[in-house]
Amino acid sequence: MKRTRPSEVRTLLTERQIIPSRVLGQNFLIDQNILNIILASAHLNEDDHVLEIGPGLGVLTEHLIRAGRHVTAIEKDPRLAAYLREAFAHCPDLQLIEADALESDLPGLVQRHGITHVISNLPYSSGTRMLVELIDCPDRPLRFVVMLQSDVAERLVAQPGSKAYGLLSIHAQLHYDVVIRKHVSPSCFYPPPEVRSALVELYRRDRPMIDLRDEPHFRELVKWSFSQRRKQLGTILQKAPRQVVPDSHTVSHQLAELNIASSLRPEQISIIDWGRLSNKLQR
Ligand code: SAH
Repeated sequence: MKRTRPSEVRTLLTERQIIPSRVLGQNFLIDQNILNIILASAHLNEDDHVLEIGPGLGVLTEHLIRAGRHVTAIEKDPRLAAYLREAFAHCPDLQLIEADALESDLPGLVQRHGITHVISNLPYSSGTRMLVELIDCPDRPLRFVVMLQSDVAERLVAQPGSKAYGLLSIHAQLHYDVVIRKHVSPSCFYPPPEVRSALVELYRRDRPMIDLRDEPHFRELVKWSFSQRRKQLGTILQKAPRQVVPDSHTVSHQLAELNIASSLRPEQISIIDWGRLSNKLQR
């Protein structure tokens, strides 16, 4: 079957009595050009092990396996999982897990399977959570090529000073170089989603953007600060809990030493400066 041909996808879904679920973000890729771009962006080597979340009808899976790669795929929908088991029955390189990726131990799976690449057209509603869990895991994959909704993609690549800049940008860019490879129109999917999509690539950095003394503290600091993104940094830190700011009396002095103005708002502060601040606060 040609999985990028809309008529074949429709026939298959009808035969199997599958009505695409909005809740599960079931928008199947039917554009050969985009498929080629995803595969080219992946730059897979022989020893790479791919994780695919939400293989759907296997449009990507098929090509990943054909290229001889080991693929672990997690699919929540039992109807799709049943189809995939049949369609890929003779593929020893595919391990299909029928499960909810949000309830799976993704960091454990990444470690056990030696996942190097995450290549997925992620479900829209929950894709961001899955991505965050994967970029935060101890054995971070080397590379991601993922389809997400455009506004999430914009947040991933956002720079200080822009509205989209926030926790997601900081989490992702601390450990990865992030680029939007291509904006993708709804017509590339069946059924077409209501939002625009974007193909995003993340390349793991050799080292994080800044060396941190304590990454959990850095996260706490950034999370606390962005929960009040309209306030000024000085005010935010004065009122911070002890695990974020151990000694609130010295905060303004510490900011001055770092040359970070206390009147700045969280969205104006670079990742490097968040890192310097976290390292300083813990002295
Ligand atoms: N990769 C396929 C399908 C994308 S649609 C393609 O490009 O055509 C999103 C897929 O994610 C669907 O197969 C949907 O059933 C699956 N999915 C949605 N939520 C999931 C979850 N929590 N865990 C695992 N799979 C999920």
